[in-house]
Amino acid sequence: MKNRETEQRLRHEAKTWLEQGKVDYIIGFEPGSLKFTTTPLITKDRDDINRLVINPFIVNNLSVYLTEIKGRVGIITKGCDNRSIISLIQDNQVVRENIVIMGIPCPGLIDLSKVELWLGRDRDELDDITRDGDRVVITVDGKEREFSATEVLFDNCLSCEFPTPQEYDVLLGEASSLVTDKIASRKKIETLEAMSQEQRWQFWKGEFSRCIKCYACRSVCPACFCNRCFVEETEPQWLLPVPRWQENLMFQIIRNIHVAGRCTDCGECERVCPVNIPLRSLTKKMYELVDDLFHYQAGMDKSAPPLLTAYEYTDAEDFIR
Ligand code: SF4
Ligand code: SF4
Ligand code: SF4
Repeated sequence: MKNRETEQRLRHEAKTWLEQGKVDYIIGFEPGSLKFTTTPLITKDRDDINRLVINPFIVNNLSVYLTEIKGRVGIITKGCDNRSIISLIQDNQVVRENIVIMGIPCPGLIDLSKVELWLGRDRDELDDITRDGDRVVITVDGKEREFSATEVLFDNCLSCEFPTPQEYDVLLGEASSLVTDKIASRKKIETLEAMSQEQRWQFWKGEFSRCIKCYACRSVCPACFCNRCFVEETEPQWLLPVPRWQENLMFQIIRNIHVAGRCTDCGECERVCPVNIPLRSLTKKMYELVDDLFHYQAGMDKSAPPLLTAYEYTDAEDFIR
């Protein structure tokens, strides 16, 4: 199904849900104020529904809003956000009966930073970007440049295992066939794995010296749902509020442990970091460790206990020896 057809059906469903009182709010995407961007739209007004869009730039993981909105909510989800919702249900943060899920089979999203690198141009200078199957056509200065989708999709999309939502009330379209490139998706992680421990330490020291403690990575993450984050605790005070690299690194280490078994590799924390710290190298590595050690993937079964509340005799136990 093309984006335009999907949009029409999405708007029809969303309007019907609001009119019939099936939901109090709709959460979806509307065009952003900048070119090739979208922004979350949260509304209870049916006149807003015509602003809903589906395109290759619907980056936000909208499930992050579910823990904040009271009432029944209709939500549009891609594969990764869908798994975040299931994970939130497992953690008793969201009640399934209070949400109506519209699933969008996802073909992967376009990373504008990669486009800028390939073309050596700012996104504002581009005339158009269109996706057609495994090709992406970019028009700049009136000329078309064609790329393979694998060259411009986000790293996390290149190894996405579940692009089609598994838990939904309405699925808009057929299961998506995603173009993947697992080697490209893991390139940054492999570079780090090839380093010595000392080199890796120096690498992260350098990266976290640039962290400005804005906590955007925490704010966009649906797996970061604590009412009071440990970084703001004062009794006991786990971290000093000063932006030293040691505190910044410790924040991310503890955050990664907190999201272990909840992270769905949606890639949002890395995307929003204003100083481009490669946070996915940590979160994806943790995702892989959880899978290898506990054969657990986040958000796959809403009736399963969360990772850290269930134990099996076969679980790895080296860490408590
Ligand atoms: S990770 Fe998968 S579901 Fe999520 S945006 Fe990328 S391709 Fe879509
Ligand atoms: S840790 Fe990052 S990649 Fe994982 S769910 Fe949170 S925002 Fe998404
Ligand atoms: S988004 Fe980046 S700069 Fe902001 S707190 Fe997270 S790591 Fe630091």
